[in-house]
Amino acid sequence: MEILGKSLIGFRDSASTGAPFSAWNPATGEKIAPAFFSASPKDVQRAAELASEAFPSYSRLSGRERASFLNCIASRLESITDLLVARAHAETALPEPRLKSETARTCNQLRLFASVVEEGSWVSARIDHADPQRKPLPKPDVRSMLFPLGPVVVFGASNFPLAFSVAGGDTASTLAAGNPAIVKAHPAHPGTSNLVGRAIRDCVREQRLHEGVFALLFDSGTEVGAKLVQHPLVKAVGFTGSIAAGRALMDLAVRRPEPIPFYGEMGSTNPVFILPGAMAARGKEIASHLHASFTLGSGQFCTKPGLVFLPKQEASTNFFPEFQDKVAHSSKFALLTSGIRNSYQREIKNRKDRRDLTLVAEGEQASPGQAFLAGVAVFQTDVPSLLSSPDLGSEVFGPSTLLVRFATNDELLEAARSLYGHLTATIHGTEEDLHEFSDLVQILRDKVGRIVFNGFPTGVEVCHAMVHGGPYPASTDSRTTSVGSQAIFRFARPVCFQDFPQSALPDELKDGNPLGIWRTVDGKFTR
Ligand code: NAP
Repeated sequence: MEILGKSLIGFRDSASTGAPFSAWNPATGEKIAPAFFSASPKDVQRAAELASEAFPSYSRLSGRERASFLNCIASRLESITDLLVARAHAETALPEPRLKSETARTCNQLRLFASVVEEGSWVSARIDHADPQRKPLPKPDVRSMLFPLGPVVVFGASNFPLAFSVAGGDTASTLAAGNPAIVKAHPAHPGTSNLVGRAIRDCVREQRLHEGVFALLFDSGTEVGAKLVQHPLVKAVGFTGSIAAGRALMDLAVRRPEPIPFYGEMGSTNPVFILPGAMAARGKEIASHLHASFTLGSGQFCTKPGLVFLPKQEASTNFFPEFQDKVAHSSKFALLTSGIRNSYQREIKNRKDRRDLTLVAEGEQASPGQAFLAGVAVFQTDVPSLLSSPDLGSEVFGPSTLLVRFATNDELLEAARSLYGHLTATIHGTEEDLHEFSDLVQILRDKVGRIVFNGFPTGVEVCHAMVHGGPYPASTDSRTTSVGSQAIFRFARPVCFQDFPQSALPDELKDGNPLGIWRTVDGKFTR
């Protein structure tokens, strides 16, 4: 299957010859063919118009029909796994086994949403029967359920070229809810994006759907994304990426004449709290797993533990010798783009220059000529320094973490209270630790979307109960998640029907419950 450098607008490839760009191989520092061409303003207009035309028919499909479409995409992607893994490996330098499991995760995610829409209860149908005898006023018949929003624009991140990209969770939940998707491809993995986009387009054809159900647009810069977010026919945005980009796009979304929902899943530092009992009992083991977690994917995980609190009085633990040894023996890593590598090197230099930080250990470092390579670096500070410089808690995207020593229990709780929003927080503790720090869980509950106990935050299970989001700046709307089946609720809104005849109601709201879904009828959850 040949990779083509053109945007996919409905069933046609774009004719645009706008600003060309290429993928780079981070492992070799070489360009990868072919050249990709940025979408034109005409492409943006056409993609939005087609998506808007597709919406009425696509949104009316039954759950079973939408499930069939999502399952088709999963099967197509599975059938080109080797091709996808090879191209994604070349474009990201992420290890092939990881990319293979990311492909499987992407397919499982599509199938999870297929099962949710096929079962059908996700629409949250509610029925309140009329009571004409009610005094002083008769009660009307009121029924509501969720409906899709309209065309949704999706931005994928560079660090998950499959699971958070063209057919990732945002696209899967958008399509599952009944919305056409217009994806802005990430320029770090355009070839992977093209392969995935064509697999989706093949399924649009095979399932005889309107061609506007899916589009994939390339751009070497930020113009196409900004235009898409501002397009009047676009009704919502799903974004995964940096805080700076997410914030810029969110501001565009809310400044539109018609503001639209913007779901940004952004960077996070994911604080880890190693409490004294756990440190004493398992210091060496925690050190080894912490090293594996913060260097996973070259430290380019949104769930990377980037802020680690540990007691000042270390007692007799083997944490430090083990951790320093692991870091010192770390080889250098290839980062995803030269931009990410430059930001990382800049921040590591800043941290080395700061008086309130000390360098605990570093691994093999890259030489200046190695455009994508960088080494591991770990710094240390104390709670008072963190409290006076909250910027130390910001995400450093790459293989680095910051250890923060706490002197007293109160100091640790004060540090926890000072945190801004994160995707996750992790506690390593014993039962006695939990008792001694009983306020910690309560404090963290208000700061993050997921709290991990005696584990590590990297690795996000795709399931019904998962929450992958958090208070700003981890995400732009802490009420939602971008991973797991609850992500579908971002792209739907409730509509209420009052005093409608049975024949004019959607099947989900008819008295006989012809679809057999779970509903809330007169306040009772029933099938
Ligand atoms: P990024 O630089 O923010 O890029 C994301 C997308 O936004 C790209 O398509 C990019 O296109 C576009 N973009 C960037 N700036 C823009 C602007 N001003 N206007 C319009 N579009 C713009 O992020 P990344 O480097 O790919 O990903 C790394 C970040 O994502 C990290 O912070 C990581 O923690 C976060 N992340 C979060 C999650 C999560 O679930 N919360 C998951 C994975 C990653 P261009 O490159 O062409 O500008």
